[in-house]
Amino acid sequence: MSLAEHALSYVRAISPYQPGKPMTELAREMGIPVENILKLASNENPLGMSPKAKKAVEAAISGVERYPDQFELIAKVAERAGVAQNQVVLGNGSNDVLDLIARVFLAPGRSAVFAQHAFAVYPLATLSTGAELISTPAKNYGHDLAAMLAAIRPDTRIVWIANPNNPTGNFLPYPEVRAFLEAVPKDVVVVLDEAYNEYISPDERVDTASWIKDFPNLVVCRTFSKIYGLAGLRVGYALASGEIADLMNRVRQPFNVNNLAIAGALAALDDHEFLNASYELNCRGMVQLVAGLQALGLEYIPSHGNFVTFKVGDAATVNQKLLKQGVIVRPIGGYGLPDWLRVTIGSAPENARFLDALGKAL
Ligand SMILES: *Cc1c(COP(=O)(O)O)cnc(C)c1O
Repeated sequence: MSLAEHALSYVRAISPYQPGKPMTELAREMGIPVENILKLASNENPLGMSPKAKKAVEAAISGVERYPDQFELIAKVAERAGVAQNQVVLGNGSNDVLDLIARVFLAPGRSAVFAQHAFAVYPLATLSTGAELISTPAKNYGHDLAAMLAAIRPDTRIVWIANPNNPTGNFLPYPEVRAFLEAVPKDVVVVLDEAYNEYISPDERVDTASWIKDFPNLVVCRTFSKIYGLAGLRVGYALASGEIADLMNRVRQPFNVNNLAIAGALAALDDHEFLNASYELNCRGMVQLVAGLQALGLEYIPSHGNFVTFKVGDAATVNQKLLKQGVIVRPIGGYGLPDWLRVTIGSAPENARFLDALGKAL
């Protein structure tokens, strides 16, 4: 018997996560200098990281001989979110906290509900525990909350919701999310993943952290990877009732967020100028990209994130032709959308280069 045959059957059944192609990999494959490559594949911030965060990270390098102390970041996140410090769980990226929630509540014989075309980490986190994944059909490419509610079984312990959703960009108006929370059984945890929260227009955004006192089964997840520009540092967090946060902390690795990430996140939270510039750039870029896609006659899904998903037909071929031009976008066949590609909104020149390359690739 091979070693692999001794592995847990539900682990062997998992299909691996497919990340956006690294720039260095395409550079090696195509012989293109890495500085000529445009990566719009992983919803990273085209402005880079906040200058304040950069300074803080550089300063924190002297100090890496010490184990990290999460206290200051937890305190700041709690204060900003208006929750108690014991309601914050830090993660090595928010993917880490998704995994922690799964490990607290899921196991073989239990189930989690997620929506077709929703974020790939929910199936990963679910299936790695041996729990069953219940997938509900999408509605206009987004979550169908009524279908998700109906899919909840007695053994269901988690419902995963991404708002806005990745890779489709769909947004559920908050009154609908709140009505869903009212209707869900109180002993089912609802994970509200708000990785793109800061890109929602201020008139549509709602302070969901304040809902936790009404819904102790609600877990809100946010990240420093997107608008804060710290994807490579790996830091995110969950906000939950003290009871759930305590359980998540029991399975959390004690030093899951490193010194540099803590320093960067602390400074990024205070860099309002960078946040505003990132938000504004994204609004302008969205207009530019959507106009460009329309000019090419392509169907797209209206997005509330920092990316747009558009339909090209033979996405594998179009993607290959983009790669040859040094442009990396995200094929999303693994999300059940084989005819579509997802592009991250870049700077104005980056968006222009992408649209030009796409025109040639079609
Ligand atoms: C990018 C993303 C995250 C964040 O992942 P990190 O681990 O924080 O980098 C979480 N959820 C969704 C839906 C995302 O698209």
